[in-house]
Amino acid sequence: MFDLSRLLRDNIRNLKPYSSAREEHSSGGILLDANENSFGAAWSETDINRYPDPLQRRLKQEIAGLKAVAPEQIFLGNGSDEAIDLLIRAFCRPGVDRIITCPPTYGMYSVCAAVNAVEVCPVPLDENFQLRAEKILETASAESKILFLCSPNNPSGNCLDTQAIETILQQFPGLAALDEAYIDFCPERSWLPALQKYPNLVILQTFSKAWGLAGLRLGMAFASPEIIRILNSIKFPYNVNTLTQRAVLAAMERRADMQEMVAQMQRERERLAEALDNLPLVEKVYPSRANFLLVRLKKAVEVYQFLQREGILVRDRTREPGCEDCLRFTVGTPPENNQLLAKLNQFSGGL
Ligand SMILES: *Cc1c(COP(=O)(O)O)cnc(C)c1O
Repeated sequence: MFDLSRLLRDNIRNLKPYSSAREEHSSGGILLDANENSFGAAWSETDINRYPDPLQRRLKQEIAGLKAVAPEQIFLGNGSDEAIDLLIRAFCRPGVDRIITCPPTYGMYSVCAAVNAVEVCPVPLDENFQLRAEKILETASAESKILFLCSPNNPSGNCLDTQAIETILQQFPGLAALDEAYIDFCPERSWLPALQKYPNLVILQTFSKAWGLAGLRLGMAFASPEIIRILNSIKFPYNVNTLTQRAVLAAMERRADMQEMVAQMQRERERLAEALDNLPLVEKVYPSRANFLLVRLKKAVEVYQFLQREGILVRDRTREPGCEDCLRFTVGTPPENNQLLAKLNQFSGGL
């Protein structure tokens, strides 16, 4: 019943992708095909004069092992934001098709849609920040090409209900893109195994959060080989640079370090949540599965501006649906969180 070719834009179906020099002959030898600088690089890093592997084969092999998927099920991009943009460009006709989002959620889905002149159809989460699956299915039309879900959700911090996601995957006629940017922080398991069952599922993950590699820009999309081929056919040929590929390969050997940072963050998140909960200023600390806390406060906007003047940057979410009077605090190091708590106390004292 799910028909990928119905969803794909005609211009993308008919595209003859750019074939980069390195894609055609990837097996070494004398490289006189790509107009690289044969004499070297104005920097000491080895092989940096050469273009990177356009399909990031070594890296995908490692990621495939880590995530228990086939390399053909992996797309790698310059952050997961690249995958979000490519999905919209591949499947949504400007001025005709739509995406569905479930606010409050990550802002890039709407921004990428707007850049591509694609309408956003919001179906807000309920008062517990849970999916309204029935409402989403009622809203879906033939033009609703992609539904963006985020679990754990940014900025609410909760995981979306398993049954609701399952219902969506079974019945939503377009692609369901499930953003798991924060999955490594939470005990709930990834939906990756469900790829075998649901050809409409695309899962987004990233090295920017739990792995601590936001500066490298490496995002992942996992989906059927058919969907991955489409994304690869429209990406820029050398979208993930050599240094990023090299550094992420090295980082993946330090998975234990990542897990230790996650454990530290979790302990610190619970301490911060409890301390915030005891402040008279704070009305509610929402439970979080991620590395941030959504907090409802008295005088949220004034608190935000006060913290900013004091050199502490947090995120103002007060204008997001369901997040009235809410700020989002990323969990910092213990001294950073102590400073935040001290400043909040100072603000309360001045009330
Ligand atoms: C931080 C974040 C990302 C990460 O994006 P990158 O481009 O990979 O850095 C993706 N989705 C959500 C919901 C996020 O909060």
